[in-house]
Amino acid sequence: MDWKAFLDKHNVEYVTYGKNVSSDPNEVGIKCPFCEREGRPDPSQHMNLNVRTGAYICWRSQQRHRGKNPVRLVAALFNINYRKAKDLVDAESTSIEGSILGIIKDKLNPKEEQNLTTEITLPSYYTPIHYKYSRLKPARSYLKQRGFPTPEQLAKTYDLRMPMKGDFANHIVVPLYEDGNLVCLQGRSLAKEPKLRYRGLSKRNTLDGMKAVHATNETLFNYDAIQNDENMRWLVITEGVFDALKLDWFGRDQGLRSTCVFTKNMSTRQKRMLAQVVENAENLEAVYVMLDANERTDQQHMVSQLSHIPAMNAPVTPEFFDAKDPAEFDEQDVLDFVDIIEGNVEAA
Ligand SMILES: [Zn+2]
Repeated sequence: MDWKAFLDKHNVEYVTYGKNVSSDPNEVGIKCPFCEREGRPDPSQHMNLNVRTGAYICWRSQQRHRGKNPVRLVAALFNINYRKAKDLVDAESTSIEGSILGIIKDKLNPKEEQNLTTEITLPSYYTPIHYKYSRLKPARSYLKQRGFPTPEQLAKTYDLRMPMKGDFANHIVVPLYEDGNLVCLQGRSLAKEPKLRYRGLSKRNTLDGMKAVHATNETLFNYDAIQNDENMRWLVITEGVFDALKLDWFGRDQGLRSTCVFTKNMSTRQKRMLAQVVENAENLEAVYVMLDANERTDQQHMVSQLSHIPAMNAPVTPEFFDAKDPAEFDEQDVLDFVDIIEGNVEAA
């Protein structure tokens, strides 16, 4: 895309010379939007953007504030979500070729993708579990018992809720977001012997006044996080939400992120979403599938379903850690897993 035209059109200030700008005539300096987003605003123009190649790098954080994916930069520049940024970038790159391409693109996109504004609103009684109310104690002790020593921080990070009444009373509710929009949720019952351990919203039936925009098997847990984490080096696909929570919570600082698909048989939409995440992740080295220890056939099946993903790696099994599923891992298991895959990557 024509970056100079884009910056001009959207009134983004840039400099063509200065102490942080290289002598390359194609390089301009802009205020680093990633520094801004991290709460330490750029006092001058520490980000170099090559308007010809689209590559960008910030001199204050050369490891992390860099890349060449225009969507990521545009999202940070205007503080908008990935999808909106993609629209802006697409509009920019198709404007030259004329509107015909845009029309063809619209035709190719399934209807579902055009209907983006739909989202669910959580009832106010879906209390965030990190709130200090004592009535939320059962949820916090459950999370502790599942191996999360700081349930408040976990709950805050993943927006976990516990409704005080209604269809999900006495459940831990995991909201499922796409580009900041709530599209579905899954609940885990806290009852001793529940009829259903897990229940999710569906598109057909209304629960607590809500219907799913996408059912659980049509979306991904943790989608916004894995889509926007520039430091993601490995992605592990699991089946259940507690599997993914465990790996993601203890692994994310090391670059290990996780999602779950809520099923052993992925939908076309899930496959497409995963492919998109992988395509946009500049620092991703490998993708793994980790199901329960006794589900080797399902695991092979899932790996074959994802064969279109270039970074797809051999499946890994949780047995190695004496666990029946990744949800049983403790922090050390997750860190050991990181060591193992890191070694594999170096050896390759
Ligand atoms: Zn920066």
